[in-house]
Amino acid sequence: MTTQICISIREPTTQKAVAAAERAAPWADIIEICADFIQDLDIGPLLDNRLRPTIFTLRRHQDGGMYDGPERLRLETLLRAAECGADYVDVEFSASWQLLLQSVPRERVILSHHDFRQMPEDLEALLAAMGASGAAILKIAARAECLADNLRIAGLLETACKSGRKVCALAMGTRGLPSRILGPLWGSCMTYAGLPGGKATADGQLPADVLIRDYRIREISASTQLYAVLGQPLGHSLSPFIHNAAFAARGKDAILIPLEAASFDDFLSFHAAMPVQGAAVTLPYKEHAHRLAHSLSAEAEETGAVNTLLLRNGFWHGENTDVEGFLQPLRRRIFPGKLRAVVLGAGGAARAVVHALRSQGAGVCVVARDAGKARDLAGAFRAEHAEWSRLGNLRWDLLVNATPVGMAPEADRTPIAAGQLTGSWVYDLVYNPAETRLLKEAAGRGCQTISGGEMFMAQARKQQHLWCGTPPPDGVMEAALRTAWEATEEKP
Ligand code: NAP
Repeated sequence: MTTQICISIREPTTQKAVAAAERAAPWADIIEICADFIQDLDIGPLLDNRLRPTIFTLRRHQDGGMYDGPERLRLETLLRAAECGADYVDVEFSASWQLLLQSVPRERVILSHHDFRQMPEDLEALLAAMGASGAAILKIAARAECLADNLRIAGLLETACKSGRKVCALAMGTRGLPSRILGPLWGSCMTYAGLPGGKATADGQLPADVLIRDYRIREISASTQLYAVLGQPLGHSLSPFIHNAAFAARGKDAILIPLEAASFDDFLSFHAAMPVQGAAVTLPYKEHAHRLAHSLSAEAEETGAVNTLLLRNGFWHGENTDVEGFLQPLRRRIFPGKLRAVVLGAGGAARAVVHALRSQGAGVCVVARDAGKARDLAGAFRAEHAEWSRLGNLRWDLLVNATPVGMAPEADRTPIAAGQLTGSWVYDLVYNPAETRLLKEAAGRGCQTISGGEMFMAQARKQQHLWCGTPPPDGVMEAALRTAWEATEEKP
């Protein structure tokens, strides 16, 4: 069954909804008009000149919509939409759908169930009860509490496909993203998307252009290899954009998807059913990945953290590309061996940075808000440590920010007062925004600066090399990162 991409339209006026449907048409196979958002609802113009088959919905608050009028009027409006030519009307299983089915042909009815809190206990029983209605399409959308909930959706779709039923099933929320991307593979008859460049209309929904261009949803097949960015949370991650651009440029049939795992075991359960060939690992799972790996690179072993996993002959191999990713941009400019460096932060990234600098012979002083963590990190690599309050008194050639301070959406913050930027080089690991407040202030004080984007790119290029055996084509991942930055900045 070919999966249709359905773009949901939520606009406050009829005119804006018509205009949005026109913008959606080039990307969508089918368009859903959420009429409960329209304050001056005029059904005729909405449907008269439609460019794509159209689903008409009028959802109540409890179903995620805005409608709070009488139920009879709601059903009458849905009926009127069907009479005016809506290809489908979507009515909730918890509502009086029987009344609607008395007047609207079953082949034009979508019966839907939404659960914004959790995945229902018995999905199969729910689907069977909904199926008894005879509605043409059954839709179940429920919130994923863990990655394993995606597997339940996959199982439900498999059963539905065997019975020949047209079913759209998906898991909502960021943990449910795999179901929105892999739904077509599992047999979902539709996958919902937002307008390109617009706001998501549902929790975890991706814009249609991202689904089509970055996740190649129209080409995905059983032979497509899966890779993942694994972490929690993952909302800020730009890894899917750059890695998917590289896979596409190589002509490799592979996609990298976000796996926001509730626990490391949750990831392992997902992997057991939907094997991934490799993963970019981020907070808080770098140490779990280190324990999982059967073999380790020297950097992974020495830092005790794995940011890259790959399957080699069925066994996990762990690498830490942050170490080389940090050093490359630095080495392009200076010889790090003689530097006196101050590293802010004592987390996973700081660990890779301190190891990298010490391996080059640089002197390092770790400064963290938690003095105990600074002492422990410094002790592990024969470095020094100092209290945060002494930051202004320290002399340095290189200052490295390895804290998240200054990262979007709190881009107006900086970890150190501008007046204390008295050294030569400032390297900020934060890569979103492209130029942080720290880097702007450092440049203003005459320091040379290095942005986290350069490290992000260097470590990601090494991940690609490890996964595919050859370096990625030049410029592709860089261009994808620039596009992703622009898209983040444009978001209202
Ligand atoms: P992490 O393990 O959570 O460590 C963060 C460190 O920053 C901890 O020492 C933490 O202190 C400290 N910190 C947090 N908020 C702070 C604040 N308001 N003031 C002072 N210190 C604060 O995170 P991580 O993995 O090391 O990542 C740190 C940053 O580096 C993130 O922004 C990440 O995106 C970036 N990064 C960039 C790249 C790249 O390729 N450019 C690679 C890796 C990481 P506590 O322990 O007291 O909380």
